[in-house]
Amino acid sequence: MIYWDHNATSPLRPRVKKRMAEALEFETANPNSSHTLGQTARNYIEQARRTIANAIGAKPQELVIGASATECNLMALYGLFLARNKANPQAKKIVASPIEHSSVHENIKILGDRLGAEIVFLKTDRNGIVDLNHLRDLVKDSSVALVSVMGAHNETGVLQPWLEISKICAEQKIPYHCDLVQYFGRFAFNLDQSGVATATVSFHKAGGPKGVSILYIRTGVQCESIICGGGQEKKRRAGTENLLAIMGAEAVCEETEELQKIHQTQIKELRDYFETELTKALPQIEIVGHAANRLCNTSFVVFRGVKSDALMMNLDINGCCVGTGSACGSGMLLPSRTLLALGYSKDDAVSAIRFSFGPSNTLDEVKAILPCIEKAVKKMAAA
Ligand code: PLP
Repeated sequence: MIYWDHNATSPLRPRVKKRMAEALEFETANPNSSHTLGQTARNYIEQARRTIANAIGAKPQELVIGASATECNLMALYGLFLARNKANPQAKKIVASPIEHSSVHENIKILGDRLGAEIVFLKTDRNGIVDLNHLRDLVKDSSVALVSVMGAHNETGVLQPWLEISKICAEQKIPYHCDLVQYFGRFAFNLDQSGVATATVSFHKAGGPKGVSILYIRTGVQCESIICGGGQEKKRRAGTENLLAIMGAEAVCEETEELQKIHQTQIKELRDYFETELTKALPQIEIVGHAANRLCNTSFVVFRGVKSDALMMNLDINGCCVGTGSACGSGMLLPSRTLLALGYSKDDAVSAIRFSFGPSNTLDEVKAILPCIEKAVKKMAAA
């Protein structure tokens, strides 16, 4: 099978597989036990924490190791909201982009239902880029508890001006949370210099393991603990650490520079070739965010007149795995929430496919699959 769904998850890098296989051999004890084997496991975790911190420009003590990006987003949103509320009970507003990943979008809505948070969505342009003047106006209000805007969009790949957002929030002393899940491994970043209050970083979209993710909490930022119980992670996230996954994350962090280079050269060339040839073959398509700064591996394409689930299945039969912008959890084709929020029609929102490339993909794959897409789209659009 040809795999073009790296924004969902990307196969483990060889270095990661090797490190995790090695770790399987010695993974015996709980890193929270005081005996020799427990302390050996602890040392491996602390070594990994230093390597990860170094790769993302943070201090090791600022990293809270969690089990998924969803969990880390939730810990940041609840943690910042509760801390801000404690200091200022009027601080009830959460400012966010309307196209955050569901791990942010759904959880801020739940914060509204459970804790009375008031959600204010930022205006965006057609590419989904937030309006910085709108943000500037909003954060003047001391009832804003926090701001949450992602670094790179999971469907469109469009980048947000997150460093500018961070600056605007810092000037008003409003904590800013940034979901950098799709950013890691594709672009370099330095959390220390970025000014963000909190950030979520995950590894499995860039060939790292699932089952581990990082919540960065800048020194001095107040963020209440949500997952309590054991004293792990300095009481900021209870639960026995997943040593195997943490060591896999360490391995991918050792090659972030190489990964970024592969994305910005080989993968970008491949993606650009794909888009050029696809547009030549099917001029009626729209590549969402085409003119904006985007992740170099992502093409989110609206195939007008074609249902995305049907096209996805057709490509699957032809040996190619791609993602749809529409969630099909119940077997029903749901429109892409992102496209609807950006003003696309409902028909467009059920007609989009996400192609997301990774290091294992080749030009030969693109050349083999392009005619399949063209044939399928022409047949479906004519039906
Ligand atoms: N944030 C973004 C931008 C994502 O793309 C994803 C996953 O697709 C997540 C958060 C959640 O990641 P996970 O499912 O690993 O918890």
